[in-house]
Amino acid sequence: MIYVMLGGPATGKGTRSEILSHKLGIPHISTGEILRVASEKNADIKQKLTNGELITDDVINELLYIRLSKDDCKNGFVLDGYPRKLDQALALEAMMRKLSMEITEVIELVVSTQIAFDRVLGRRECPSCGKSFGVDFPSTKGDYCDECGTKLIRRSDDTEETLKKRIDTYQKWSKPILDYYMKRGILKTIDSSNHPEKVLAII
Ligand code: AMP
Repeated sequence: MIYVMLGGPATGKGTRSEILSHKLGIPHISTGEILRVASEKNADIKQKLTNGELITDDVINELLYIRLSKDDCKNGFVLDGYPRKLDQALALEAMMRKLSMEITEVIELVVSTQIAFDRVLGRRECPSCGKSFGVDFPSTKGDYCDECGTKLIRRSDDTEETLKKRIDTYQKWSKPILDYYMKRGILKTIDSSNHPEKVLAII
């Protein structure tokens, strides 16, 4: 059970991947999250994340391969945020071969640009326990985390300017990836403007 979730920023990849991974009992692997953790010890990664730029393939490929090799991925995983360009799709194929695995389905989530902006500008994260809140899942305690009570913050790359850059980057790089998976017959495109549970009901 290997699901690859594709979609531009704020199409809800994170939330939907998390719910799908719980439903199937397999881990949710987010390359953005792997990189946010790595950025705490690496100034170059931190700078790129803040600017909304892609991290170089050699760095992300190595970090991802290490993660996918772990025992908890043996029965499958939901991959979110990777591949972001054709070279990464090919690198993922090579990783799958090495690990004797095969992608089950590639899901592309789509929303309008207006919905993407509303979601990003409404998204908040807890700096203490890492829980995130958004339009679909607001905190019951307003500006404070409903798990641990810490004041919520906006992710440093959740700005209007960075979002425009990230949407452009996604559109530029995604077309060849989508063509590649479509030709292999494993691509499914889903309208992600509805509540996550509704979206996942049709996967
Ligand atoms: P995300 O949480 O998926 O929106 O990713 C946040 C940021 O992490 C992106 O804007 C990129 O800077 C970086 N990133 C995540 N996944 C990748 C990837 N597959 N390749 C390169 N950079 C990535």
